[in-house]
Amino acid sequence: MNVRNCRKCGKLFNHIAGMPICPACKEKLEEKFQDVKKYVREHPQADIKEVAEECEVEVGQIQQWIREERLEFTSDSPVKLPCENCGEMIRSGRFCEKCKNNITKNLSSVIEKPKPVRQEPKKVQETGSKMRFLDR
Ligand SMILES: [Zn+2]
Ligand SMILES: [Zn+2]
Repeated sequence: MNVRNCRKCGKLFNHIAGMPICPACKEKLEEKFQDVKKYVREHPQADIKEVAEECEVEVGQIQQWIREERLEFTSDSPVKLPCENCGEMIRSGRFCEKCKNNITKNLSSVIEKPKPVRQEPKKVQETGSKMRFLDR
């Protein structure tokens, strides 16, 4: 058990995984996420600052959703983020296609080593929350 202070309201809560935010604030954040998702869909030309202001969400929060690949923007949207590896501007996730391919290659070379790497079913929770937002 990992008790932490909520990053939003300061309340103590049992931190399990992900952001240090208590269940109540997380719920509010999910509502915000739906607002942002809707706004982005209705205003595909809006940049990240406009979305942040209109939905009253921090720019950093929106960027985090983009990194988590929960928010998606159309190809003509001005919203872009630098690849965390080479700095190339991308629309979602953390890395550009090129770096993603390199990372995948590196990962598979690790797995191909003689000693089999035991793969644990981690990040189950993350996948679960992602699946809830497939109804776009
Ligand atoms: Zn809280
Ligand atoms: Zn890159």
